[in-house]
Amino acid sequence: MTYYDAIVVGAGPAGASAALHMAVNGMHVALLERGDFPGSKNMFGGVVYTDPTAEIVPEFWQEAPLERVITRDNLWMLDKDSAVEVGFTGLRFAKSPTNKSSALRPRFDRWLADKAVQAGAVLQTQAVVSDVLREKKTLGRGAVNGVVLEDGSKIQADVVVISEGVRASLTKKTGLGKKVQTKDLSLWIREVIYLPTEKIEDRFLLEKDEGAVLAIIGYPTAQIIGLAGVVTNRESIALSLGMSLNKIVDNHIKLPDLLTRLKEHPYVRRLVQGGKTEGYSAHMIPMGGPALMPKFYDDGIMVTGDAAIMISGRRGSDLAMLTGKMAADTAVQARAKRDFSACILKNYEIKLKNSFFMKNIQGAADTRTYFNKYGDADYLINTVANEMTYEFFRVGTETDAEKIKKMASIVKDKQSPAKTLSDFLAGMRNWGVL
Ligand SMILES: Cc1cc2nc3c(=O)[nH]c(=O)nc-3n(C[C@H](O)[C@H](O)[C@H](O)COP(=O)(O)OP(=O)(O)OC[C@H]3O[C@@H](n4cnc5c(N)ncnc54)[C@H](O)[C@@H]3O)c2cc1C
Repeated sequence: MTYYDAIVVGAGPAGASAALHMAVNGMHVALLERGDFPGSKNMFGGVVYTDPTAEIVPEFWQEAPLERVITRDNLWMLDKDSAVEVGFTGLRFAKSPTNKSSALRPRFDRWLADKAVQAGAVLQTQAVVSDVLREKKTLGRGAVNGVVLEDGSKIQADVVVISEGVRASLTKKTGLGKKVQTKDLSLWIREVIYLPTEKIEDRFLLEKDEGAVLAIIGYPTAQIIGLAGVVTNRESIALSLGMSLNKIVDNHIKLPDLLTRLKEHPYVRRLVQGGKTEGYSAHMIPMGGPALMPKFYDDGIMVTGDAAIMISGRRGSDLAMLTGKMAADTAVQARAKRDFSACILKNYEIKLKNSFFMKNIQGAADTRTYFNKYGDADYLINTVANEMTYEFFRVGTETDAEKIKKMASIVKDKQSPAKTLSDFLAGMRNWGVL
């Protein structure tokens, strides 16, 4: 049987970072990926955040396959024939050190996994891990000491780092994960549309290498709470749309139909028209929050990234990478002590608990509660915002007092102004804007 110091399951951002940092510290690591290559099965919006990523690979921007430096960050509250736009154009973000960049996952994940391989990790693709191996014990469950692949082959190691993403089937199989229901997940569809560079730059008011991110609420998901996003790449734009999985099931929603409807919206059409579809993909995001997080470690095993529900607002890949590094640092400490028991691996949980992102996740609104409690909040905020702004900008023949009265009645007719304000604040928090 092949033997390694560590096995990492999944070569997404979490797994590649874990493998890289263990390999850099002299550990003999196997990085197992079920896809044909790292990133082949992965997708995101997708924005790479500079500061956290630089903790994984310092000055990564010199070599990573990045698309555009994000200088424009906008939110549209979209109604059927209007949009209220909130945004920020930060030209200082175009200068080094930049703050965030767009990227395509098949290229980014492959690059990061290559870094792990260059550091000495052994990458095995088309390797589907179906279970973990355990030490034999007369009483109770033995420590994890390897994995079993779908083809029946076995690989042994002192420690297994699970970085398998949102489905988290191994995490559940090992007894660390919690049972997840459709209300705990959101489902996303994404289309990449080719457009020549000049068209992208003209349509999004960008100069060379600058990029834009656009979040859209309201119209994209009809009266149901959800979100759409547009991210500019060098020669394509990525359009994604998603919502809670239980809303999709309960309302018999077909996400491709909503995506088509969005592309036909008069305000979105002008961004995408003339473009050529390069491909579609679908993926889930865990919405669970702290209540659904698994146990992060046990004897011989740690769980990282989406499998550990490390999602905070719009951020996921960067948190996955940071958790991968924390698991790697813990494994390196464990190796120095020659002890991979839960007593030592508990340090991984301590690192997580002290991190900025765990504090953010703990302090943030629980997304599931938001979806249940504020089921139509986005829609109401949207209609109120669009009707009021229309009234504000419409020039007529009434007195100012009459105009103000009319605008106030737009808010009051829908629901109490206090409820609108609380919906608005809860919405902003949920979507990671506040
Ligand atoms: C529409 C959308 C937009 C997003 N936008 C952003 C964004 O802009 N910025 C951001 O930071 N995050 C974003 N995210 C979140 C981000 O994509 C995830 O948080 C991140 O990919 C999690 O990384 P991970 O390594 O934990 O899991 P994954 O990226 O899912 O990687 C898991 C890997 O494990 C492999 N695997 C799974 N099971 C097995 C097995 N049994 N055996 C072997 N291999 C296995 C998979 O093939 C995969 O390569 C977005 C997500 C979605 C869906």
